[in-house]
Amino acid sequence: MQVLYNANIHTLDDNYPVAEALAIGGGRIIAVGDDHTIRSHCEGMAEFVNLGGKVVIPGLTDAHIHLEHFAMGLQKVDCETSSRGECLERVADRARSTPLGSWISGHGWNQNDWAAGFGSAGDLDAVAAQNPVYLTAKSLHAAWANSAALSLAHIDRDTADPLDGRLGRDEDGNPDGILYESAMELVSRLVPEPDVDQLAEAILNAMPGLWRMGLTGVHDFDRRRCLLALQILKERGDLNLRVLKSIPLEDMSYAISLGIHSGFGDDYLRIGQVKLFSDGALGPRTAAMLGSYTGEPDNKGMLFLDAEELVEHGRTAVDNRLALAVHAIGDRANHEVLNAFAKLRERERSTPGDKNSGSRQMLRHRIEHVQLIHPDDAPRLGALGIVASMQPIHATSDMLMADRFWGERAEHSYAWRTQLDHGAVLAFGSDAPVETPNPFAGLHAAVTRRRPDGRPADNGWYPEQRLGFKEALRAYTTGAAYAAGMEDRLGKLAPGYLADLLVLDIDPFECEPDQLLEIQPQKVMVGGTWVV
Ligand SMILES: [Zn+2]
Repeated sequence: MQVLYNANIHTLDDNYPVAEALAIGGGRIIAVGDDHTIRSHCEGMAEFVNLGGKVVIPGLTDAHIHLEHFAMGLQKVDCETSSRGECLERVADRARSTPLGSWISGHGWNQNDWAAGFGSAGDLDAVAAQNPVYLTAKSLHAAWANSAALSLAHIDRDTADPLDGRLGRDEDGNPDGILYESAMELVSRLVPEPDVDQLAEAILNAMPGLWRMGLTGVHDFDRRRCLLALQILKERGDLNLRVLKSIPLEDMSYAISLGIHSGFGDDYLRIGQVKLFSDGALGPRTAAMLGSYTGEPDNKGMLFLDAEELVEHGRTAVDNRLALAVHAIGDRANHEVLNAFAKLRERERSTPGDKNSGSRQMLRHRIEHVQLIHPDDAPRLGALGIVASMQPIHATSDMLMADRFWGERAEHSYAWRTQLDHGAVLAFGSDAPVETPNPFAGLHAAVTRRRPDGRPADNGWYPEQRLGFKEALRAYTTGAAYAAGMEDRLGKLAPGYLADLLVLDIDPFECEPDQLLEIQPQKVMVGGTWVV
């Protein structure tokens, strides 16, 4: 048993919101109280850890991450440099530790940030001639390859530009190594996918970074290979992160054949919701809209699944105790998804004593992103018990695009305050690697609606949507736990709860909002074990 004492503990338990000491045993919290009571009860039975007045909060969960892509991304050469030469040096470094002939992947370059501008295949050949090299641009709309990669892809001066793409060429018409848009695929499809063991290794290497940011759990939206890798780590006793794993729609029938419900697994690796996409995204203006995009009278985006189709899939899911997580960005998509959830909730209510299950915990359906919602639809998540799974940092990253493409409708976008006021449970995440998974960056965005550089204004973008710190923290703790069906044991520091917690030297309840960006947990505990 361990006793943490002399601490300023924010428990998020309404019965005992602030405490001084915690007793921990068997991976769980045994008791919460003041120093004197806890210490005198545990005298001689526990190891005592004096936290020197530091702050303790529950461990945080990123409720929307792509763990495979995030972990694999960390393995790539980081090409986000201030000069082209520095990027080439990093590639040279990597080449020295890479077997001859093996691929070198990188990401993050932006020729606009480089005085020297675009690089060429020849530049890469000079530092890594013996390895095919493929480096994607930060925008993901272009890539930079060396001659070895071009030759494996059979790209030469006679290669025609593909539809919706272009090969960069030098003055003699020879490919220069830059691939635009769909031309990227000519090379990217040759880059070998990681095998499961490599992915397990990559996730193992990514975990410490996640802990140091304050994450003790994630809800993952990658696929089968990621689940396999997580199982390997778990078998080895190396999975010190609570993972809720979604199932892609096309694999739903297999889960049903096996008789798997949402919630199958244990407190470390647990099956979550079936993931569906109802529309596209804001950037490419493919999010499904009730009205046209500003300045594009003919464009209302793309609806992939309407309410009827969603109900069709959803019926099969809920009859088999599988919950849904539906990606919905535009106001039309959110409208259709809510229509479908209304029908599905009715069905769940009207089929008590379901033949497949005795469990009657309400299925934890969720909408991923909820980026733009019509005011008439806004109250419906709360009313139907649908979790609003949102990513605060998207608001500050996307605000200029949202203003431009949605105009005044942006008033109803990234509207977490509205959702909370209507009684929806919020679960916050990052969508990493699209954005940083650092939850304190997300907390900052949620309470300020401002970028770290202060834009767009002191009181933020649509400031009426700002949250208080505690409300935002709940979305990363109790809200995420609810979305996983684990609210009876995760997200709070209360007796019987899993001992996942952070020790901080800045009190996020007291500090200036901008200081949230500086918070780095001093110590991190998962299941009673210090991992940082
Ligand atoms: Zn995502």
